[in-house]
Amino acid sequence: MTKEYKIVFSRDDCIGCGACTNVCPDNWEMNAAGDKAQPKSLKIDEQMYSCNKDAEDVCPVGAIKVE
Ligand code: SF4
Repeated sequence: MTKEYKIVFSRDDCIGCGACTNVCPDNWEMNAAGDKAQPKSLKIDEQMYSCNKDAEDVCPVGAIKVE
C-alpha cells in the first residue's frame, strides 16, 4: 500500500515569498492575488513526499508541515 502524507498549511503565516513554489512546483503555486502560496493537494503520496519536504524546509516562516 502506498503511504500517504498530509500537508498542513498555515495560510495566515505565509508571507508569499514563493520559495515553496520554486522547490516544489508540482504541489505549490501562488494564489491568484500572488500574495500567498497554495497547495494543489493536501494529501500526497510517497512520490511527492520529498519535494513537499523540501518546501517545508525552505519555508522561512514554518507555514508548511508534512505529516
Ligand atoms: S515558502 Fe512559506 S512563506 Fe514562502 S510562499 Fe511558501 S508557504 Fe508562503
